[in-house]
Amino acid sequence: MIKNALPVTYGNFERIQPFDLSKNSSIGCGGLAPCALFPRDLEELFALLCRLQSDGISCLTVGNMTNVLPPDDGLKILVVCTRKMRGIQATQSGVFVEAGVSAGQLLQACQTRNLLGAEFLAGVPCTLGGALYMNAGAGGTYIAEIVESVLVFRRGRRVELPVEACRYGYKTSLFMQTDDVILGANLRLKRSNEQEIAERKRYYLQRRAHLPTGKSMGCVFKNPENGVSAGEWIERSGLKGLRVGGAVVSDRHANFILNDRGATSQDVKRLIATIQTTVKARYGVELKEEIRYLE
Ligand SMILES: Cc1cc2nc3c(=O)[nH]c(=O)nc-3n(C[C@H](O)[C@H](O)[C@H](O)COP(=O)(O)OP(=O)(O)OC[C@H]3O[C@@H](n4cnc5c(N)ncnc54)[C@H](O)[C@@H]3O)c2cc1C
Repeated sequence: MIKNALPVTYGNFERIQPFDLSKNSSIGCGGLAPCALFPRDLEELFALLCRLQSDGISCLTVGNMTNVLPPDDGLKILVVCTRKMRGIQATQSGVFVEAGVSAGQLLQACQTRNLLGAEFLAGVPCTLGGALYMNAGAGGTYIAEIVESVLVFRRGRRVELPVEACRYGYKTSLFMQTDDVILGANLRLKRSNEQEIAERKRYYLQRRAHLPTGKSMGCVFKNPENGVSAGEWIERSGLKGLRVGGAVVSDRHANFILNDRGATSQDVKRLIATIQTTVKARYGVELKEEIRYLE
């Protein structure tokens, strides 16, 4: 039987109880989860997952919550949040990085060690676990391209999956179809010099200068396969600035929905549905969500 309640004392894991999803997600929506636990490294994460499993307590693993829409009525299960993990170790071919490391922390470590290849992640507000789950990318490069293997928690064991086993595709991965929890990954990087790394980082950061600021989930929709971006279809449909409650289609980038006036998740969902219906009716194009709905 799956139990959701957590005993009052539960190891030494840092916790927030209850966990306010609206304060902890980049879109700023959602109700409460009963509790969030914050392991500080891979061993703590593994120990926590083993213990939850043996106690029959179900959980949801998240990173920085920058690509998720939490429900207004909250979550019944507890949240395991990796964002306090910091571990990065040099390997022969690059680095091993723990799931909760942010893109910024990874790039800092790469720069110190003169390792090139991850700069496309500059400015992406992700943890590596979230990026590996979503196959995050920017400027036409995706994280799958630098992954050697992913280490996961699978039914009480550590399993190392070579990249070929991770079924990576455009904004998709094996992890969307399994209960695996990503513990970390080996990334393949090249030796370079500080100047080249800094230049490439600058290049990718400049490409992001036009992106909207404010509360969002980044791009809401995947780009369809017809060569025209989702944002372009939304703009052509005249939907920039369209509002439902506190949620609005960004004027700067039509694939961004902003929460600028205390939007509920319901507002965001209704706006998403309106965009999909309108673009389909005008151009016959089906826009599919990139964001993940939490439940
Ligand atoms: C302003 C802004 C700009 C953005 N720009 C980009 C961009 O340029 N490119 C891009 O690809 N994305 C972009 N995004 C979206 C987002 O940052 C990425 O998808 C990122 O990879 C999500 O990482 P996260 O740690 O926030 O994951 P979360 O949002 O916390 O989680 C995403 C999904 O992964 C799962 N998950 C997270 N960690 C684990 C784990 N350890 N094990 C198993 N499952 C896990 C969660 O359950 C959830 O289903 C942007 C978002 C914002 C707000």
